[in-house]
Amino acid sequence: MEYLILSTRMKINHYIGLVLLLSACAAPTASIDLASELPSKEGFLFYIDQNTNLHRSELLTTIQLPSKDYLVPSILNLLPNANREYRSGVHEGIDFSAPLNTPITAVSDGIVVRSNPQHNDVDIDTYNAFLATSAKLSKTPDDIYQYILLGKSIIIDHGYTITEKFRTVSVYAHLSSISESIVPGARVEQGTIIGFSGNTGTSDGALKNNKGAHLHWEMHFDDQAGRYFLGQNIPSNSLQSNIELLFNK
Ligand SMILES: [Zn+2]
Repeated sequence: MEYLILSTRMKINHYIGLVLLLSACAAPTASIDLASELPSKEGFLFYIDQNTNLHRSELLTTIQLPSKDYLVPSILNLLPNANREYRSGVHEGIDFSAPLNTPITAVSDGIVVRSNPQHNDVDIDTYNAFLATSAKLSKTPDDIYQYILLGKSIIIDHGYTITEKFRTVSVYAHLSSISESIVPGARVEQGTIIGFSGNTGTSDGALKNNKGAHLHWEMHFDDQAGRYFLGQNIPSNSLQSNIELLFNK
């Protein structure tokens, strides 16, 4: 353990030296994410800093895929940390390629926090006006994200059953419909069908067509200091394999 810490520190020092050297050579410098390049991220589901992170070994249980036939994609644009320029934001979820009306299931036991089967998509002009607002702010405002862009969506609170370090929630978005029993307060078991995939909340949803259906799925981890998302700050070359650790028994 001691050796590991020492060895990591030496690597950090080495790396800082390298970054300083590179900074001296290249001007202006692009911001370099020091932490995301460190090799110590193996097995981490997200990593903010030394104190705030989640390693696979700290899981109390693993979860199941939100739709059993659709695996974690390998394309970076479908994974967390990808840019979402259309809304001036960053992707905090995984886009599973489930086609229209694929059954979507709860990834673990929990209690429904949010369910909005009554959601209706806005028309495309209004949709674009919201995106213009996001562009002006250089970020996606939380209300636009939650109430417009997620479309028909479900949030499940898993409490501290997935890890005792963080309260965990899962988010299922762009659904075509939501099962009748999935109302706030409902208790769901892992594998319960909670809804069906669709394109609500997307530009295709606003255009009222059937294109672009997929499942946008997120997992967030809360502690007293903040909220973190699955895959946050994990280097792109190990992102898919690290996320898969959450699903593998
Ligand atoms: Zn997405």
